[in-house]
Amino acid sequence: MAVAAARAVMLGAAAPLAPEEVDLAESVGRVLAEDILAIRPQPPFDASSMDGWAVRSADHAGARRIVGESAAGRGFDGEVRPGEAVRIFTGAPMPSGADAVVIQEDARRDGDLVSMSAPPPGAFVRPAGQDFPAQARLLESGVRLDPWRLALAAAAGRAHLKVSRRPGLAIISTGDELASPGAAPSARQIFDSAGPAIAALAALWGAAPVARLRAQDNVEAITRAAAGAGGDLLITIGGASVGDHDLVKPALGDLGLRMMVESIAIRPGKPTWFGALADGRLVLGLPGNPASAMVCAELFLRPLLLALQGADATPRPAWARLAAPLKANGDREHWMRARLSYGDLGDTIAHPFGDQDSSLVTVFAEADALLRRPAHAPAAATGEAVEVLRLDRV
Ligand code: AMP
Ligand code: MG
Repeated sequence: MAVAAARAVMLGAAAPLAPEEVDLAESVGRVLAEDILAIRPQPPFDASSMDGWAVRSADHAGARRIVGESAAGRGFDGEVRPGEAVRIFTGAPMPSGADAVVIQEDARRDGDLVSMSAPPPGAFVRPAGQDFPAQARLLESGVRLDPWRLALAAAAGRAHLKVSRRPGLAIISTGDELASPGAAPSARQIFDSAGPAIAALAALWGAAPVARLRAQDNVEAITRAAAGAGGDLLITIGGASVGDHDLVKPALGDLGLRMMVESIAIRPGKPTWFGALADGRLVLGLPGNPASAMVCAELFLRPLLLALQGADATPRPAWARLAAPLKANGDREHWMRARLSYGDLGDTIAHPFGDQDSSLVTVFAEADALLRRPAHAPAAATGEAVEVLRLDRV
């Protein structure tokens, strides 16, 4: 199946999970399941943007009589009449009658009087609602919260937010050759690098870990691990292909696996598959080669997790210019690991790594982006524009 078609099948199966309430402080990384509306304008009143003097702009230049003070959180209850001034501070409400502020550096105080030139109307005044008016739709359902959006929800006075439940994620790394990092590997084993990487990526994309399991290459072990793993989504790593030791699909057949995507026309990651178990859990089968697993996580797991949280799941590629020529591509969409740099004219330059072998963790550790070569793309020259998907490097 083509990459876009496979993703469409996955997203079609990923209905948003039920919403729950979280505290504002816990909301970063969560996806809003409600619109956030302003209950009042911000600022709620005309406010001074500087320390100075609140005056009537229609008054002539010269001395004004000081009649009071307006500080942030307090204000001045009287009225500023012609020839009068009120001492005012940043964030304080404008007293009625006054329509401009003269900053303190531009005024000279002498006892009960303060002298200044006439300011233009509205000088150094933040009008009520300058940031947002009452009833404004500040944040929309489906938006993922970050510290900047959190500031807006806080400015709207919200202590609790309705967000989508995090998708519970179970991960099973399969393979007799795998040793967990920290364990003592035999001479013929390698460390499980794909499992921890996929778990970490999923956490960035809002998943809640429910199980992190390992299974040997035998059907019973894989079935047992999968049966008790729980969560909304199961990821298997390895054993996805059609070799004698690729047993994940047969093992999940015992749990009523319904296949929806058998394999994908992508490089790396062709054995990637997708389906659902009889109990409703979705399953994404990733190949074990770390680069294959991480490319397919970016292209399929990220959208799946976002869709389960009710967020926009469409990958947003950008464009970059090739730093080196590329050969014509074959019949699978190729997602190459690349570094990005930035040219004098503000253009982005993509430097594909020379060795694109799907087992390489060193290359991924240095990559900034995935570079897309469509199926059957002709050879591309240096400087040609290519699509790139930036990695969320922390
Ligand atoms: P598989 O997808 O099981 O056929 O494995 C493909 C290749 O990836 C083999 O060289 C495996 O040893 C390697 N591999 C499988 N799982 C992992 C893993 N979790 N971490 C690192 N390498 C792996
Ligand atoms: Mg294997």
